[in-house]
Amino acid sequence: MTFHVETNSSIDVVDITDQVAAELPAVEDGVCTVFVDHTTAAISINEAEPRLIEDIEQFVAGLSSPDGWKHDALDDNADAHLRSSLLGRSVAIPVRDGELALGTWQSILLVECDGPRRRSLSVTVAPSA
Ligand code: ZN
Repeated sequence: MTFHVETNSSIDVVDITDQVAAELPAVEDGVCTVFVDHTTAAISINEAEPRLIEDIEQFVAGLSSPDGWKHDALDDNADAHLRSSLLGRSVAIPVRDGELALGTWQSILLVECDGPRRRSLSVTVAPSA
């Protein structure tokens, strides 16, 4: 299953937990993978508390210097690629009784590193053997 998310700023953290749950294939028990198919975005799991979201955005901004990279000669976004590489583009979440088995304070977060853009994500579930 795939869905899209519109991001609103150059670095933007968006809670996508509800969209992932809505796209979750009907599997009783297994492992759900959420994957963003871009090279300048990332996926993380953390608490979607508004002040923490701002802290994550500030932290992500500080992960890379904006200038001085060779790739910038091509399209001036090397820092976004580097942030994405550090954070990763997928997460794995247990599925139990057909539901995402997230912890009480866990949400699935899309981390935009080069927005605003329209991002494509996929949700797959591998059933337990
Ligand atoms: Zn690039």
